[in-house]
Amino acid sequence: MASHIVGYPRMGPKRELKFALESFWDGKSSAEDLEKVATDLRSSIWKQMSGAGIKYIPSNTFSYYDQVLDTTAMLGAVPERYSWTGGEIGLSTYFSMARGNATVPAMEMTKWFDTNYHFIVPELGPSTKFSYASHKAVSEYKEAKALGIDTVPVLVGPVSYLLLSKPAKGVEKSFSLLSLLGSILPIYKEVVAELKAAGASWIQFDEPTLVKDLGAHELAAFSSAYAELELTLSGLNVLIETYFADIPAESYKTLTSLSGVTAYGFDLIRGAKTLDLIRSSFPSGKYLFAGVVDGRNIWADDLAASLSTLQSLEAVAGKDKLVVSTSCSLMHTAVDLINETKLDDEIKSWLAFAAQKVVEVNALAKALAGQKDEAYFAANAAALASRKSSPRVTNEEVQKAAAALKGSDHRRATNVSARLDAQQKKLNLPVLPTTTIGSFPQTVELRRVRREYKAKKISEEEYISAIKEEINKVVKIQEELDIDVLVHGEPERNDMVEYFGEQLSGFAFTANGWVQSYGSRCVKPPIIYGDVSRPNPMTVFWSKTAQSMTSRPMKGMLTGPVTILNWSFVRNDQPRFETCYQIALAIKKEVEDLEAAGIQVIQIDEAALREGLPLRKSEHAFYLDWAVHSFRITNCGVQDTTQIHTHMCYSNFNDIIHSIIDMDADVITIENSRSDEKLLSVFREGVKYGAGIGPGVYDIHSPRIPSTEEIADRVNKMLAVLDTNILWVNPDCGLKTRKYTEVKPALTNMVSATKLIRTQL
Ligand code: GLN
Ligand code: ZN
Repeated sequence: MASHIVGYPRMGPKRELKFALESFWDGKSSAEDLEKVATDLRSSIWKQMSGAGIKYIPSNTFSYYDQVLDTTAMLGAVPERYSWTGGEIGLSTYFSMARGNATVPAMEMTKWFDTNYHFIVPELGPSTKFSYASHKAVSEYKEAKALGIDTVPVLVGPVSYLLLSKPAKGVEKSFSLLSLLGSILPIYKEVVAELKAAGASWIQFDEPTLVKDLGAHELAAFSSAYAELELTLSGLNVLIETYFADIPAESYKTLTSLSGVTAYGFDLIRGAKTLDLIRSSFPSGKYLFAGVVDGRNIWADDLAASLSTLQSLEAVAGKDKLVVSTSCSLMHTAVDLINETKLDDEIKSWLAFAAQKVVEVNALAKALAGQKDEAYFAANAAALASRKSSPRVTNEEVQKAAAALKGSDHRRATNVSARLDAQQKKLNLPVLPTTTIGSFPQTVELRRVRREYKAKKISEEEYISAIKEEINKVVKIQEELDIDVLVHGEPERNDMVEYFGEQLSGFAFTANGWVQSYGSRCVKPPIIYGDVSRPNPMTVFWSKTAQSMTSRPMKGMLTGPVTILNWSFVRNDQPRFETCYQIALAIKKEVEDLEAAGIQVIQIDEAALREGLPLRKSEHAFYLDWAVHSFRITNCGVQDTTQIHTHMCYSNFNDIIHSIIDMDADVITIENSRSDEKLLSVFREGVKYGAGIGPGVYDIHSPRIPSTEEIADRVNKMLAVLDTNILWVNPDCGLKTRKYTEVKPALTNMVSATKLIRTQL
């Protein structure tokens, strides 16, 4: 009975690790306290998997911060600025790399493939010195063994590690990171040898970059790396694990011909075409780890369907070489359904979090081995049937409306320059209009008000009056600062997706459905389980109230459909674009109600549009097409005189600039302050952009207050590339996480810089 789990969430069912880490960082608890929490978590996870009957249980998937940083520590690749002097890397050097310290900034963090998890990017160069500096993989293996559990130690594979790295500061961009293979493999060999000596019989290398578009040079690196490791690996069963997408045919060929490897793991949820590759040829005598249970979602598996896929694979790999597995590490899903007190039983019966997925994997393995638990399978089939037929899932009207959108186009009737003229007649804005992105600082007091209202500790009246007061304060501040287009500050919102999800039908919220985002930070994505509709206006009351407090234009503030989709757990019973179209229709209603209520400027944030890009280039066009279409659906019906803004985070979107233009917003504000040059180069290269654009003039992620000169300088740089009449002046993103003592002087300088430049035009 062969079952395997690729990896498991480390945060704990109630975020125990988060609290232990933060208390340690705050100096409120000791390293021993932290280690105790970590040891307990690891042992309970191993025991749980072993108790469930899992045969191949992973170790070294725990981390105090990030598995890529753990690998950096293992290789001793500590950037010089941390003044590490050698030996075993301790917590202080480790956390300095992760989070910076009083004198040295942290290493960069970036998204782990197309997930919402962020890893610490290794900084490597020709002079990086490597040494075996963290024995974590071995000590975790031994720790499990001492509990009587023989595990499969997991390492980030050497090729993926290098391909995920960046050249250190001062190193030529053209430096070949792969040229470091020869330097890191000796350390991998030491680790492997020690694991072998400790008794390991299996080892897992995670090589997820294999699902990306790789060139011949990169593929050759895989072949030579594993050939080089072959001798050291002999006597061990070696599993190469890939996940997150279909593996390209060329890469599949390279992978399945690697020497010294005995097993291959594939994501069969996001890799439907990989299944065809496997069926058409799979090397004989090798193990196939079939990732049929979805590691990135929260839905109960369709066990009957998985079983039949698995049965068909028995013919390919052989009965004794087929292993049931998860599609990827379970760290991308929520931890344990048992702690869900807010969800009703019906919805709960449709779900499986990490702990439940472990049981599913084992049940499938048993069924394959002829010991099918009929009652368990029957309960699963019943839950699936109830989900399919539940009136809470299906809303005929919404289905019809969304279906009618497919294949058609939705655009505003007039082109953007005519619209901007019509809007200017009404809005009468000065040249280089100033604005902000939406949120203003969220004070402790404000959070308390929201919490108490939710807990019904204060009345609706008290709540409304407190929020009104806050809006009034924010309006007055902006008027005093002399900002041109105002915002209400979003004091009623905890989170830009949750706020809308809570008011839309088809969404459910968990109490503990946390997923690690980076370090100790977790997010709790809403679950979209049914057809989405908007029973009532969601923001109109607050926007109208805010507009009534000022004669300046007040922006309505909405989250766009693509962002709501990308930051939620989505349905797996219909394509993503269908769900997105449904959300678009709901937001469209809100846009129209705002317009009818007299709001003349409406911002529809698409903060997460860029991050939804599929991993494989061949799939970009399709995604961008429906994503951009969804955005246009939300505002295709407004009058020319209504000004539609959008906002995007993440500065690197040069590759999707044409899609951004195709969104056809009247004004776009974008995060930019960390990379002016990158963004402006697109326009310098002649991309035609006729709509309004506000590249952020200062970084809101830092408490630093930018000077007037500095902002003026940046605006002037932008003016050298962009037409005066399309440029807007605004910060990078929302001000929610900043303090008033930072926001006020920063915005003062932003407005004075703008006024200064206006006099020079
Ligand atoms: N309007 C939102 C805010 O200002 C946008 C946040 C975001 O882009 N992440 O907070
Ligand atoms: Zn933003």
